[in-house]
This record gives sequence, structure tokens and C-alpha cells, in this order.
Amino acid sequence: MKYPAFLIKYAEIAIKGKNRYVFEDALMHRIKLALKYTDGEFAVTKSQGRVYVNCLTDYDEDEVIAALQTVFGINAICPVVKLADEGFDKLCEEAVRYIDEEYPDKNRTFKVFAKRARKTYPVRSTEMNCALGEAILGAFPEMKVDVHEPEIELHVEVREDIYIYSRQVPGPGGMPVGTNGKAMLLLSGGIDSPVAGYMIAKRGVKIDAVYFHAPPYTSERAKQKVIDLAKIVAKYTGTICLHVINFTDIQLAIYEKCPHEELTIIMRRYMMRIAERIALENGCLGLITGESIGQVASQTVQSLAVTNEVCTLPVFRPLIGFDKQEIIEVSEKIGTFETSILPYEDCCTIFVAKHPVTKPEAKIIRRSETKLADCIDELVEKAIETDEVLNVI
Ligand code: ATP
Ligand code: MG
Repeated sequence: MKYPAFLIKYAEIAIKGKNRYVFEDALMHRIKLALKYTDGEFAVTKSQGRVYVNCLTDYDEDEVIAALQTVFGINAICPVVKLADEGFDKLCEEAVRYIDEEYPDKNRTFKVFAKRARKTYPVRSTEMNCALGEAILGAFPEMKVDVHEPEIELHVEVREDIYIYSRQVPGPGGMPVGTNGKAMLLLSGGIDSPVAGYMIAKRGVKIDAVYFHAPPYTSERAKQKVIDLAKIVAKYTGTICLHVINFTDIQLAIYEKCPHEELTIIMRRYMMRIAERIALENGCLGLITGESIGQVASQTVQSLAVTNEVCTLPVFRPLIGFDKQEIIEVSEKIGTFETSILPYEDCCTIFVAKHPVTKPEAKIIRRSETKLADCIDELVEKAIETDEVLNVI
């Protein structure tokens, strides 16, 4: 085992005072869950404002780092060498050995960042910086100190134990899931909504999801695709409680009774209404969609306003100002893209009109919806009864 531990760095701005414990505990919880699926055993500990992953058995470093990179709240992952305190001379020797093993090519610049968190340690940080620097230069004359842009930042931290590290692998940033309430993601099989869920979860929000399917117009394969997408997103968010709602009868009623150019917008309004009901029943404080201004007819500013008016919960639209290409880049990064582009129909594509309204007016849409008055309340209740709950891990 090359590194006996990983130091986990997180942004400290959001975690002043009491929040710090909530944040750190949630972070540790998420780290433990992420590591459960790797080969190896670990103890996740917290000490003096630092979170460490201590490796108890052998492990695959790439696998562990990949798992930690799914944990929101982590800014950097630093593989560290841990030493017992056996005097400063020994520490200098160990630092030299660390550099020797870590950097076979010595033709590099470096800077030492010593930190004396244990104030009883007899050597001060500035003295440590100088002495460690000298020891390294003494051992490897081809190395040079560069205090402005060093190639190697050698960190030496004296705490209860002593830690040496120089590599900082970037984490995903954000905040640990579970520190910011829960929201309901409207998850379709497309490219956008999985990305939207990822982005809101990155802010610490736990995610539930709802998918409206319309059998037989949409296939089992389309449903499986949504489950597969939820699985990928769940790598970052933890278990997603996915509600699958049978939307066929509502869609048929709208198709039969409402003007065809308004189908999509009316359908979207019913999706939002039902999603809100399920959200409220499950303690969600907001809805999440993958909408982006102007992407399609149902996402013009006018359409978004008309869709929005049926909800009282806030609707989070993290992609609202993104171009498609920017959304695709995130979906590739998080691993949903390949699944999203599988060609299975989603329920919108079956019932789309050739010329959908692009500037709907709320009062006209409301009037069209009155044509559903004799059946819609019952259809909505029935649809909610079809709720199939899947815990996607
Ligand atoms: P996506 O890539 O997310 O499917 P899209 O560009 O296809 O987005 P629309 O089909 O207009 O956009 O849907 C806009 C948003 O409405 C989606 O991002 C998603 O949040 C939600 N949505 C659409 N269809 C469904 C569905 N069948 N089930 C759940 N949510 C849906
Ligand atoms: Mg879609």
C-alpha cells in the first residue's frame, strides 16, 4: 500500500459555525457510501477540521480516487504518507525519501509548505520550511526552489501524526448531498434532465425523481433507459427514489380534447402538477427540470411562464442559460450521455404537433384545459395511483 491515507480537502466558505458539523458529517457519510463499492476497507475519520480516509487494507488507488470523485463537497483528494513523530531529523529524512520515491525525475522546482497544527512541536513552520528545503536540496542538487510557481508543492503537516503530501487530485466540488433539503427531479430519457439533477445535487440537495411513461406508446426499453440514467446519476447523489407514473390516459385525453398545437404545453402543465403532488407527499421542497430557454417550443420564455404557473413549489432549472453543447459536455463528464442518446422514444415525441405554439398565452391555455373538466381530476388521481416506486442505487 503506497499511501496509507487520503486527506480530503473541502471548501470551507459555506461551513462556518454549527454548519461545519452538519457538512463534515454528511461528507463523511457520503464518502463511506462511495467507498463501499470499492475493493478495500477504510476508516473515515475527522480530526482538527480535516477529513481523512485511512486505508486499512490494500486497495486500488485509481478505483478509490474515482469513487471519491463522485462525492460532492470534496475539492481535492490528496494521497498522504503518514508518519509517527520521531524527531525533526527523522522527518527531514522522510521528506527526502518521499521526494525520491514520488519524483524519479529530479529536474524540477519545488516549495515546502510546512504547517505546525500541533503547537507543542518544537520546530516552527518557517524553520521547517527552510530546513526541509535545505535537506531536499542537499540530497538532490539538481532540484531548485521556486517560491512563486513551484512544480512540486510539498506539504508537511504536523498534527498528532505527521502527514506528507504533494499531489492534489481535483474532486467534484459542491456540497455533500443531504445538507440542503430534497427536491423532485422530472427525469426523462433525454440529455438534459439527468444533468439538471446532477447540478442540483451538487449543491447538497437530495434527489427524488419522477418519470412519466405512456405505455404502449412508450416502450419498456424507454422506461429501462430512464432507470439506467437514474442509476448513473445515483452514483453522485446516493439512492434515488424514482416514481414511475403512467401518463397514457391523461395524454390521450389531452390529444382528444385540446387543440393539437397546444398538446405539449398542456401535457407539460399536467406533468408539473403531478410532480408537485408527489414532491409534497415526499417532503421535497422544489422541482427540478432540464429546461433551457429557447431549446424547443415548450421552452420559450412564454412557454416556461405558462408551465410554471401551475406550480407553487419553486422550480429549479439549472440549465436555463446553457447551450445544448454545454449541456452535452457535462453529460459526457458525468457519464450519462451515451445512455441519453439511445434512440428510444420518450412520451413527448409521440404526441408532438407539427406546429406547436411557441408563444402560448396563459388564459388561452387555461381555457383549452377547461375542455378536460369532465375527466381530468379523476385521471390525475388514477395516474397518481399508478405510482411505481423504485429505489435506484
Ligand atoms: P430532456 O433531455 O431532459 O428530455 P428535452 O430537451 O427533451 O429534455 P422536454 O422534452 O421539453 O425537453 O422536457 C423538458 C423537461 O421536462 C425535461 O428536462 C424534464 O425535466 C421534463 N420531462 C419531459 N418529459 C418528461 C417525462 N416523460 N418524465 C419526466 N419528466 C419529463
Ligand atoms: Mg425530453
